[in-house]
Amino acid sequence: MANVKMDEWLNGRLDKTKESGLHRQLKTMHSAPCSKVVINGRNQLVFSSNNYLGLANDERLVYAAETILHEFGVGSSGSRLTTGHTEWHQKLENKIAAFKQTEAALLFSSGYLANVGVLSSLPEKGDVVFSDQLNHASIIDGCRLSRADTIIYNHVDMKDLEEKLKDSDSYRRRFIVTDGVFSMDGTIAPLDQIMTLARSYGAFVIVDDAHATGVLGENGRGTSEYFGVSPDIVIGTLSKAVGAEGGFVAGSRVLIDFLLNHARTFIFQTAIPPSICAAAYAAFEIIEHSKEKRRLLLSRIKQIKNSLEKMGYTVKGDDTPIIPVIIGDTYKAVAFASRLQEEGIYAPAIRPPTVAIGESRIRLTVTADHSLKEIDHLLSSFHLIGKELNVISEAALL
Ligand code: PMP
Repeated sequence: MANVKMDEWLNGRLDKTKESGLHRQLKTMHSAPCSKVVINGRNQLVFSSNNYLGLANDERLVYAAETILHEFGVGSSGSRLTTGHTEWHQKLENKIAAFKQTEAALLFSSGYLANVGVLSSLPEKGDVVFSDQLNHASIIDGCRLSRADTIIYNHVDMKDLEEKLKDSDSYRRRFIVTDGVFSMDGTIAPLDQIMTLARSYGAFVIVDDAHATGVLGENGRGTSEYFGVSPDIVIGTLSKAVGAEGGFVAGSRVLIDFLLNHARTFIFQTAIPPSICAAAYAAFEIIEHSKEKRRLLLSRIKQIKNSLEKMGYTVKGDDTPIIPVIIGDTYKAVAFASRLQEEGIYAPAIRPPTVAIGESRIRLTVTADHSLKEIDHLLSSFHLIGKELNVISEAALL
């Protein structure tokens, strides 16, 4: 039975969300989200998934998961420190450590929980965490749970970071935490410069490589490989380019031993299923040999960005699969996204508070599996709708 008083109170709060144009609803996908998907009974091209290398629906991952599913059953039925630890968890952790070129790695149930686990357990009272202004919500939540102070520096602004580091003598330990690739702006963190600053100010570096793992660097090892540096702690997810589910931390053996004993989001969660570990294990084997796919992905990214800029759009970010196209006004961005859906394209509008006021956008993500024909359709739809809604001028080129 619904509690009428509670519903009235919550409806009042939801009305405010609706008034500000920020009310969100679920959309049901009736097929695996590769480059095409059936949403609400209609075929749509998906330009919004994190399935960057097309691995989420790769037969090799399905086969690996299926085999172990029959052997180990569905759920792991226990936390890692009780009965949830299997040889597949161990194999995957060894694989991740080898892939990230660290001594050890530790699995979490999600990237979100990995970030929260590290930031809530590692920095202590009297320490300080320098956090990029656009870091992911899970980093923000981890900092909120930490007993250390948090100081926000302007997005990828190394001058601002250095000034803040200079001013931090009163703290015992310093940590710098950054996304490798920023999820809303598609920017690559200047990890080489962050490492240089960290070394001169005696700070530890934590990088969340959720969107870079499998994508950046010659072998897809992420931002560390892209810049040729070794941050102290690398956090990642198995749910984006890896195509599975779960999160991880990679670093020294001592760090992993510490997290296993102190990170509450590790200790008090049920282990991810062994079948998912087997799928992720298969994914890392594929990723290591996916140079051609990464090259193809990069060429798709460049093609889309160049064409949109030629049309007159403001496109943010570096060359990553996250392509934010600025629309500006919140209502216009929502109207743009629904017109895209009418043209058979699913790419959501991202609005405040996720992004700054006046910076509402269509956040496109591209995968190596998008065909040239699908990209042509995306670009011609942007041309059509952009003119219709006065986002780009009549004179804009296609
Ligand atoms: N970090 C970043 C930068 C992300 O974009 C995300 C996912 N949106 C996460 C962490 C969380 O990863 P997961 O989905 O595995 O919880």
